[in-house]
Amino acid sequence: MMEKIYASYLDHLQGIHALNTALGLLGWDQETYMPPRGLHPRAAARAHLTGLVHDRVVVDHFGGLLEELGGLELPEDMAASVRETRRDRDRAVKVPRDLVTELAQTTTLAQQTWARARNTDDWPAFAPILAKVVELKRREAEAVGYQGEPYDALLDEYEPGASAADIEPVFAELRTGLVELMGVIHAAGPRHDDAVLEREWPIDGQDRLSRQVLKAMGFDFDAGRLDTSTHPFTSGTSPVDVRLTTMFDPLDLAKSLYSSIHEGGHGLYEQGLPETLAGTPLGQACSLGIHESQSRLWENQVGRSRPFMDYLAGQLKAIFPDRVSGLGPDVLYRAFNVVRPSLIRIEADEVTYNLHVLMRFELERALFRGDIEVSDLPALWNERMTADLGVTPENDREGVPQDIHWSFGALGYFPTYTLGNIYSATLFDAAGRDLPDLDAKIAAGDLAPLLDWMRTHVHAHGRRWTSSELCRRATGTGLDCTHFLDYLRTKFGALYA
Ligand code: ZN
Repeated sequence: MMEKIYASYLDHLQGIHALNTALGLLGWDQETYMPPRGLHPRAAARAHLTGLVHDRVVVDHFGGLLEELGGLELPEDMAASVRETRRDRDRAVKVPRDLVTELAQTTTLAQQTWARARNTDDWPAFAPILAKVVELKRREAEAVGYQGEPYDALLDEYEPGASAADIEPVFAELRTGLVELMGVIHAAGPRHDDAVLEREWPIDGQDRLSRQVLKAMGFDFDAGRLDTSTHPFTSGTSPVDVRLTTMFDPLDLAKSLYSSIHEGGHGLYEQGLPETLAGTPLGQACSLGIHESQSRLWENQVGRSRPFMDYLAGQLKAIFPDRVSGLGPDVLYRAFNVVRPSLIRIEADEVTYNLHVLMRFELERALFRGDIEVSDLPALWNERMTADLGVTPENDREGVPQDIHWSFGALGYFPTYTLGNIYSATLFDAAGRDLPDLDAKIAAGDLAPLLDWMRTHVHAHGRRWTSSELCRRATGTGLDCTHFLDYLRTKFGALYA
């Protein structure tokens, strides 16, 4: 009897998963290959499909199934799956269908408006549709409900169980540590060690390098792809179909290399989720914070580490034999780790990066408390950049419209970047304790042991626990910025001593 109800539950989830797979591919295509004039029919198709997903989630029959399963004594895995699906459904039933489809339609159009406004330095062209997105998200937050403040309803979608009040003290502690470290680095004087990388890097070689490094990381190209887009991203519709994008700049090797490694970290997580549970909560990522812990771990703890430079120097020599004179591992290490306050978040170094995120977190919270409006953003943004980082945007592209997120309605998303950085350091330390020769392995390009560790301790568990619980079980520590601050102090203290 129980098996029969559970089978109907799984069957219903597979229908939702099929629709989400179609939506995921439409979204991926929109950012990679869709011709510009395909936008309006695409927005309509996405809105329609999103409405169908909503219908299938909120339908009474499904609610009844979940109710029944909730009353049964289920094995642990099944109980966790049902608990998480109920969580998703409880949220979905509170949001009116017309709001769901209006958001899908508006955000698809807003993405294109954003891309144009950013490329032409035209904030006023983007502001009205952003104000509409914020208005719709405010309605969503009110519909979903919250305990502390409206922002919590949005954050919860990306970081289940987290609240602004919970993460605020952790972020405050992190800010104090970062400002202190920036002072030390500033006192050491400016460094221009990355000037050695200024040379032409042919795109086909950069593409080969990205693919080579991704293979070394363990990314399975029979279950994934690498393409290009303006804003690199990862789209996973199942562990056997994971799509990464990167971006190329013939004069900047770091851009493609670190975008590919970062997205590769996301991709490894998607490929490592249990394949047989695809479409169910235990086959989905734990949270975006944990997702970002995987991308930042490969990008920074591995990809910007001294051991990795031994491996990278060899790869560069093989791919660009006539362009790497003077680029030994030590030179590369300093070149890829210059700390320099900058205007663009995605180009920021490891020390200043989180100050960009903390600012966005505070601005978003203020927007949803109703303390500020979209029209206030540019002035507040510039004020904060000057105060926190000592740099001031000179055009719109360097200011508010630099990120794609708000255009597609991802408000409440930015904090997951900093949570990811914090978790990445905690996880990497724990992996290092279990794998004593990890540095030597990384230097040799043998990254399989680290991936195995992540598979066992992170990927295999899907959404079974909250992010802090997953981290605690994997490492003995929950959400705590100590490991991350220690990592930064040790690394950059030595580099800037
Ligand atoms: Zn990421």
